[in-house]
Amino acid sequence: MADASQPHVLDSLDKSLAAWASEAGAPGYRVAQVRKWLFEKRAVDWAAMSDLPKALRSDLAERFRLWSAQVARHTHADDGTEKLLLSLADGGQIECVLLRDRDHERRTICISTQVGCGMGCVFCASGLDGVDRNLTAGEIVEQMLQLQRLLPPDERLSHIVVMGMGEPLANLDHLLLALDEARRDDGLGISARRITISTVGLPPAIDRLARHEANYRLAISLHAPNDELRNQLVPVNKNIGLAAIMAAADRYFEASGRRLTFEYVLLADINDRPEHARQLARLLAEREALLNVIPYNPVAGLPYQTPTPDRRLAFRAILEQAGIRVKFRHRKGNRIDAACGQLRRSQQPLPLVEL
Ligand code: SF4
Repeated sequence: MADASQPHVLDSLDKSLAAWASEAGAPGYRVAQVRKWLFEKRAVDWAAMSDLPKALRSDLAERFRLWSAQVARHTHADDGTEKLLLSLADGGQIECVLLRDRDHERRTICISTQVGCGMGCVFCASGLDGVDRNLTAGEIVEQMLQLQRLLPPDERLSHIVVMGMGEPLANLDHLLLALDEARRDDGLGISARRITISTVGLPPAIDRLARHEANYRLAISLHAPNDELRNQLVPVNKNIGLAAIMAAADRYFEASGRRLTFEYVLLADINDRPEHARQLARLLAEREALLNVIPYNPVAGLPYQTPTPDRRLAFRAILEQAGIRVKFRHRKGNRIDAACGQLRRSQQPLPLVEL
């Protein structure tokens, strides 16, 4: 059981370990050893770090918590997807997911950045009760390590999508620290082009991300092709507006050179009409972009439905005829591709994948 009074070492790994090594009189290479145990050898606790002298392991255990969360539930699906419900030290709960793509040998994780979400998207499970707090950098790194431990020793994580509970750009400081650990060679070694950050579109934070040294992939959750409808579906849009978001997205593309992704959750009889597809095509025209359309995955307690196959086909045809690069996501991957809006902080067991 984690001792919540101890500092969480993953919150600021380099600083914590450097201070420890200096105070404990441990040579610098001990820090590298600890990092290796954490990221490569997947140690479950300080005691497992068997090439460190026992006294140093005890010293580390007295100073720091290695884990701040406990796995409250672990769910498996037939397709290899696994989901963890984590209970945080203050009682908050978040979810994170591991997706295995056997065709491409991808091992993708979807991680959360906040307890709850304050963006208020009306179809979303994660934001039903608003936001409680930002996750710490350590709590974000911990999700990566907990999910990595689900893999056999000869498999590595290959991709990260920041699409779990919360608005990532509302917790950018901690997210960037955590992603630094994901990218480092002595961290998880996952390159920025394999890391996607999803947002409803917060222009100042998008601009800040554009100035960051790592060119992460950016996915913008549109969900509506005009402000009138988007104000209803994504209420935070009232204070921002699509024009400002698209302009920020264009600036990000110019700065990063990364093709943009736009996400569109397709809701029956709400945003799935032919005129919506035509407006969407006009909005995305002449942009270097991929459009991911995710037929809605119904959430208990919310009134929204999955569009019929005919509606989906018609929507897709209009976009393709307009030359938009579009992908429809299978429902199997819905919990990953559209995890934003699908993860819930409920304690009730949820079916992991609805095929
Ligand atoms: S869909 Fe995403 S941004 Fe919107 S409320 Fe849910 S978690 Fe937040």
